[in-house]
Formats: sequence, C-alpha cells, structure tokens
Amino acid sequence: MPPQALEVALACKGFLDLDEGERLYQLARDHAHLGPIVEIGSYCGKSSVYLGTGARAAGGTLVCVDHHRGNEENQRGELYHDEEVYNPAAQRNDTLPFLRETIRKADLEDVAILLITKSTKAAEIWKIPAGMVFIDGGHTQIAADTDYESWSPKVVSGGILAIHDLFPDPSEGGQAPINIYRRAVASGDFEELPTVKTLGILRRK
Ligand code: MG
Repeated sequence: MPPQALEVALACKGFLDLDEGERLYQLARDHAHLGPIVEIGSYCGKSSVYLGTGARAAGGTLVCVDHHRGNEENQRGELYHDEEVYNPAAQRNDTLPFLRETIRKADLEDVAILLITKSTKAAEIWKIPAGMVFIDGGHTQIAADTDYESWSPKVVSGGILAIHDLFPDPSEGGQAPINIYRRAVASGDFEELPTVKTLGILRRK
C-alpha cells in the first residue's frame, strides 16, 4: 500500500484494522482485472481507500455502495454513533461528505464511483460481473442475508467475496456476518482463503 494512501486511510473515521486493510488492498489489486471492485457499506471511506488504491494499481474501478445514513449501530444512541456525521437539518446521519473528502484526499476521484443508494437497489441494476465484492453493510441478520443474496451472485468465477466482522465467538461480536460467510461456504460455490483477523475471504470456483 503506497504510504500517501495509507496515511489517508489511517486518518479516516471507521472500523477497519490495518492488517485487514492491507489485505483488501492486495485483493483489489489482484482481482480488479476481472471486473469492478464493489464495496457494500463505505461509511467515511476507510476501506474505500485500501480497495480503491488496489483497484487503481491494476487500472481498475471501485464502486462504493452506501445510502450514507449509517447502519443500525451508527444511529443516535447506539454504540457506534458519531455525532460528527449527524446532520441536524436532515435529522439523520450523512457520511457522504466524509467519503467524498476521503476519496479526494486519496486521489481516487478517477477510480471510485459512488452509488448513493441502498445495496438492494444498486443490485437491481447491476449486470456486470464483479472482480470482488466486499460486504460490510448492515449487521442485522436480515441486512447481512440480503446483501449476501443480492451481491454474492455478482462475483465472477475466480473473483473474491470478502465479508467483514466475522466473530467465531458470539461474545465478541454479532453473528450475522459469520452466518453469511458460513452460507457461502455451505453453498459449495466458494473456496475459503485464510481469514485475516475478522476479514473472511472466499474465492468463487
Ligand atoms: Mg465492518
């Protein structure tokens, strides 16, 4: 990961470990030739910097899908709420200005396409085989299932399905992401690659 981009990623708000980020960078770089890299849940752009910088190294494209109103854990009164991303006029979160600024600082404006909508809505119009899909959206079971069902079929053969926030021990975190990871394994359509901390990585057969 180039040091200038790494600096932007480290300074960005978000919930992604450095080792996980470095792995996202490598995966995007190594699979962007197969099709666009798609990120479900961008928040302020921390993971977008790793994925976008990887995509750029391969001459590829990153698509950042997010409605920018925050997931269930980002809402006011919840554990991961950040008052700085709350827009009082809208009475809702709005992380889009933060993402846009992150993309600018990381010099990714020619690499990243921002899709400002629900992931299901984006999936309805998405017809291109994706080189990689990174699922890091809502963490309720229904949100995770919907993202899995909408987006895992878009991954091209040889491409990557990555899922963030896997917690094998339920006392350490919610089970929705690891449940969809297990669904993907059980489907028989994917080969498991080594997990990096809470980042699950699967390759479509
Ligand atoms: Mg996450």
